[in-house]
Amino acid sequence: MTNNHEDELLAGVPAGLLIGGEWRPAEGGRTLDVSDPATGKVIAQIADASVADGQAALDAAADAFPAWAATPTRERAEVLRRAFDLLQERAEDFALLMTIEMGKPLAEARGEVAYGGEFNRWFSEEAARVQGRYGANPEGTGRMIVSQHPVGPCYLITPWNFPLAMATRKIAPALAAGCTVVVKPATQTPLTTLLFAALLADAGVPAGVVNVITTSSAGPVSESIIRDPRLRKLSFTGSTPVGQRLLAQAAEGVLRTSMELGGNAPFVVFDDADLDKAVAGAMSAKFRNVGQACTAANRFIVHRSVADEFARRVTEQVKGLVIGRGTEPDVTIGPLIDDRAVTKTAALVDDAVSRGATLRAGGRAVPGAGTFYEPTVVSDVPEGSDLLREEIFGPVLAIVPFEDEDDAVRIANDTEYGLVSYVYTENLARGQRMIERLETGMMGLNMGVVSNAAAPFGGWKMSGLGREGGTEGIHEYLQTKYTLTADPFA
Ligand code: NAD
Repeated sequence: MTNNHEDELLAGVPAGLLIGGEWRPAEGGRTLDVSDPATGKVIAQIADASVADGQAALDAAADAFPAWAATPTRERAEVLRRAFDLLQERAEDFALLMTIEMGKPLAEARGEVAYGGEFNRWFSEEAARVQGRYGANPEGTGRMIVSQHPVGPCYLITPWNFPLAMATRKIAPALAAGCTVVVKPATQTPLTTLLFAALLADAGVPAGVVNVITTSSAGPVSESIIRDPRLRKLSFTGSTPVGQRLLAQAAEGVLRTSMELGGNAPFVVFDDADLDKAVAGAMSAKFRNVGQACTAANRFIVHRSVADEFARRVTEQVKGLVIGRGTEPDVTIGPLIDDRAVTKTAALVDDAVSRGATLRAGGRAVPGAGTFYEPTVVSDVPEGSDLLREEIFGPVLAIVPFEDEDDAVRIANDTEYGLVSYVYTENLARGQRMIERLETGMMGLNMGVVSNAAAPFGGWKMSGLGREGGTEGIHEYLQTKYTLTADPFA
């Protein structure tokens, strides 16, 4: 631990499991360590849940469901609105905690508090807007009533890269819809969720409505919950292989699922683009969160006539980035989450360079404490390189030249993923054609960041199922009932 303020903050984070409104130790008192990726030091020891603990959390969520589902939506909305307000008051604590446990620079952590907090406000507003419909059937022989109902107890699994926003993006719509939840944050970054759960209790969330389990046995603990018939919904954000495994488990009980999985975002720069805008967009689309975002631009597909100029300009910017612990002022590049991430990033860059790509900046792991990798630019990356096929999840900007629009579309769509794409062009008709031709669930047109609580976030193809945020997000936690009644005049 590095200073008193951080120590105090960490000491205030609950270390137990939140089950039925009580913080309790894991079965047998088992604990797991949480580390700071910038220093490698252990910063907290928290409860390590067993399968029985997971079941106890589901018991609590199932018990609390009828009363929460029957709570007027206005009351549920007010609780979420209070959570939004409390998060504003405690924003600095949440930002610092995310920086300590995850590594992102403090300025970005503050941005995540703003973005993540917004889901509480958005869904507090959406809660009261869930409506059904009533009307005569087309034959005129009866009346059709369509109503919406909370789906039931939900299991929410989140990744480590956005510790607050991934939790609020699931918890807020679930609570707004009248569902109760068991949340399982990633093992690497559980502290933010634990602190947020404490905040929700302060905001008035009743006991058992939000339960939190932390565990080093994500597989067995989750499987037992997913296969339990009392569970009615699984919402997962994480890697595609784990998502596929969970979908297979969910299939047995025909469980409702939402899946926010991996991405391999193309970032297309046409010769008619405003290069200043494209370079600025590229820097945020690539280096936010050190490239550890499912929305991170993975492949920079740049028209051959501007590829060299684009590469020169981004390289100049990349050389100005500052590596270090995210709590230090001026730091723009924090650590990767762990050693495995460093090894994977290095292997992807080495593979591209061995195939003939040009290394323009970076290209090495940073020696010493912490898991840092230099921000890197590689150009003329040959098709077939692992860098273009796999989700990089690191600070590597890979440039591929293209010849014409059809070529750009072919390269951009040449992936099993379809989360987000970015397009830079000043030609409106071309921009519109790209909206229609790119196979992704989201698109930034002359914009390098697309996430917004008011927008439907989600992917096509193997990037997932369902949407989070927007007017769509709450429907992931609702089920529809159609009722036919007789013609009251007959
Ligand atoms: P991961 O799949 O390893 O882990 C995600 C979560 O699943 C963690 O909570 C982990 O503990 C849990 N988990 C791991 N194995 C499990 C199992 N067998 N059963 C149940 N739970 C299990 O992914 P990660 O490395 O934490 O996150 C990075 C991935 O998440 C990337 O692929 C990224 O694209 C994706 N991601 C997607 C979105 C999106 O909205 N599409 C957002 C953020 C991250």
